[in-house]
Amino acid sequence: MTIKNNIINLTQTLPPGCQLVAVSKFQSPDKIAEAYDAGQRLFGENKVQELVQKYEACPKDIQWHMIGHLQTNKVKQIAPFISMIQSVDSERLLAEIDRQASKYNRTIPCLLQVHIAMEETKFGFSEEEVRSIIEKADAFNHVQIAGLMGMASFTTDRNIVHAEFSGLKHLFDLLSHAELPGGVVMKELSMGMSQDYLIAIEHGSTMVRIGTAIFGERTFTP
Ligand SMILES: *Cc1c(COP(=O)(O)O)cnc(C)c1O
Repeated sequence: MTIKNNIINLTQTLPPGCQLVAVSKFQSPDKIAEAYDAGQRLFGENKVQELVQKYEACPKDIQWHMIGHLQTNKVKQIAPFISMIQSVDSERLLAEIDRQASKYNRTIPCLLQVHIAMEETKFGFSEEEVRSIIEKADAFNHVQIAGLMGMASFTTDRNIVHAEFSGLKHLFDLLSHAELPGGVVMKELSMGMSQDYLIAIEHGSTMVRIGTAIFGERTFTP
């Protein structure tokens, strides 16, 4: 299968209302160009340096999403152009995104990353923390909290993955029906990767983040 076919097949498989984020981390600009030629415009990266390099090298109508852990001191490098930051995992980070976005007179859409997996190492808020940060969102004028993002456990046990995505969808629905402050909308529910996107779709994902199932193994060193 070529990258082009993978993009076309995936795009046709996804339900209406579910967007494909092509995760191009550790994939060469040539491969990005192939996906671009198939019509893909939304790409995800997880390292600031690689993201900035690719932004500079690639067509300017690409929308870039940051999907990896972001250090506060690096926000300024992506603030001028980033379309969405899906991996907001602290209030301090949100405050810094707000500060940098204001410099460019932008409003940057952000997702709150929720910790749903069993693994200790994955970043993200607890449900309590999500609620508390949403309550404080009025203080931020240059970020829009646009929804939630989560990563399921790395496991072959599909029941666990179902339970984790179902839990995140439940929180998303609860928040959607709650009274939210200005600057907060529950529009995007980003969940699902190459291994588990079909399960994520069953649970109402609006954004799947797919890398290896499109591009193959990650071999490029930026
Ligand atoms: C790498 C990555 C993906 C894509 O993973 P694949 O298994 O290659 O589809 C999705 N989301 C995040 C946050 C990632 O870091």
